[in-house]
Amino acid sequence: MAEKLMLEVVTPQKAVVSEAVDTVVAPGSEGEFGALKGHTTFLTSLKMGTLRYKNDSGKEQLLFINGGFAEVLPDKVTILAESAERNQDIDVVRAQAAKERAEQRLANRAAGIDLLRAELALRRAIHRLKVASVSK
Ligand code: ATP
Repeated sequence: MAEKLMLEVVTPQKAVVSEAVDTVVAPGSEGEFGALKGHTTFLTSLKMGTLRYKNDSGKEQLLFINGGFAEVLPDKVTILAESAERNQDIDVVRAQAAKERAEQRLANRAAGIDLLRAELALRRAIHRLKVASVSK
């Protein structure tokens, strides 16, 4: 059996994952990276994307990650994310509503609206829907 490493995913609100896992794949700002037990130490920022890991269930686990930082140590990966949700915890109705709200803001382009903010909200919503759509 492969040796495990600890995975901790933490947001300002809560600890989302604290588990011994076999592999972790995360959306590094310089590109996706994978970590196994014994990996060289490094620190990187993360972009919005999908965090994947494998545990004893044999099924790949998926989380939506809204940017942050990762510290990779030989026996532990710590992810500090602005927000993070396991795919089964994503509220699809809420994400769909957020998507429609952002789309309307972008379509109206009313004076004073913050386009970048609306674009980021749209990207978060689209990515949440994508992660939630993967079979749970
Ligand atoms: P919304 O407009 O629906 O609040 P948002 O993209 O602005 O979405 P964030 O600022 O990324 O939300 O997150 C705020 C908090 O709400 C975080 O704790 C995040 O995990 C949670 N959250 C946001 N959207 C969802 C969702 N669709 N399902 C579950 N949790 C969510």
